[in-house]
Amino acid sequence: MSRIYLSPPDLRQSDHAAVGSALASNWVAPVGPELALFESKICQLVNRESALAVNSGTAALHLALEVIGVGEGDIVLCSSFTFAASANPIVYCGATPVFIGSEHRTWNMDAEALKEALETLSAEGTKPKAVIVVQLYGQCAEMNKIEELCAEYGIPLIEDAAEALGASYKGRPAGSFGDFSFFSFNGNKIITTSAGGMLLSNNKISVEFARSLSMQAREPVVHYEHQRIGYNYRMSNVLAALGRNQLGDLKKRIEIRKGHYEAYREALEKLPGVTFMPLADSNAVNYWLTCLTFESEKTNVAAVVDKMENEDIELRPLWKPLHLQPVFKGIRYFGKRVEETLFLNGICLPSGSSLTEAERLRVIQGVRGCF
Ligand SMILES: *Cc1c(COP(=O)(O)O)cnc(C)c1O
Repeated sequence: MSRIYLSPPDLRQSDHAAVGSALASNWVAPVGPELALFESKICQLVNRESALAVNSGTAALHLALEVIGVGEGDIVLCSSFTFAASANPIVYCGATPVFIGSEHRTWNMDAEALKEALETLSAEGTKPKAVIVVQLYGQCAEMNKIEELCAEYGIPLIEDAAEALGASYKGRPAGSFGDFSFFSFNGNKIITTSAGGMLLSNNKISVEFARSLSMQAREPVVHYEHQRIGYNYRMSNVLAALGRNQLGDLKKRIEIRKGHYEAYREALEKLPGVTFMPLADSNAVNYWLTCLTFESEKTNVAAVVDKMENEDIELRPLWKPLHLQPVFKGIRYFGKRVEETLFLNGICLPSGSSLTEAERLRVIQGVRGCF
């Protein structure tokens, strides 16, 4: 029996062909036609004016912060319940994060806590330079309230939709919110370019600025002229071909992941103390990972993860809140600590679109065996 991974890359024959033809075209470096095609396909999918394909979601976020002008001494508000990549670029810019806790309903940024942070900071005479809201596990936050608050305080909003491609909120696609948004195409995401990301905005000028920064900030002249520090963040044309092809069956990928969620739910929901991640709107999530929580007195998450590891099944605890991370020690936090409990009691189950029914059954039997 082979190891079962949480969310491994799912490559089809057509992906091989797409990469092969990109190679055959000799558009290997530095850019090429696949990039613009991939960018416009994502724009169409999520109703955005402009996109920039880069070599990671982290790079996309870093560029968004740079274009906004986040710098030394600035404050940026960010969801606490997320992967470190949602906040690391704040520090790259010399700014300081302030973390916002989660609400029970979506596990995402609690608008009440955001409001409290904005009021408190404003009373102290501080205006945050940006808000980063994360759409965790493929489900959107209460975007109406968060957008309203950002508009009220005149603060740019960045949507971390890294995990949320294909999800939506009140009919609006994930990746269409805020001044900037971004996706990740890392190997564990719903589609992959092995590594990659996409920055999106309706402001074309901002995206063109980010495009220049992503290619070493070369001025548009034939000799190498630079007026500011740039980065080497552009996606390769070969990987754009892979991404574009993977996008073609996004709907099917979501359906498969939804099937995993439903099978897990049916098989595990009645176990004592087990609660599945609440879905505010089950039509609007992308089912990236099936997540559930245990009642802490009944089940020990670390023991479950260990036991499954012995059976060669990769389970993961939920994200450790960033305000609890040693590297962010002493950073301010606003919230009700909902995510602290989720982290202590929650796990993600193998949910990849290449997971077979037999493998899923092994996971189910493994989890049942922990009770
Ligand atoms: C994966 C992920 C990122 C980072 O994306 P990379 O492409 O790996 O740099 C950022 N935020 C969240 C929530 C993620 O899950």
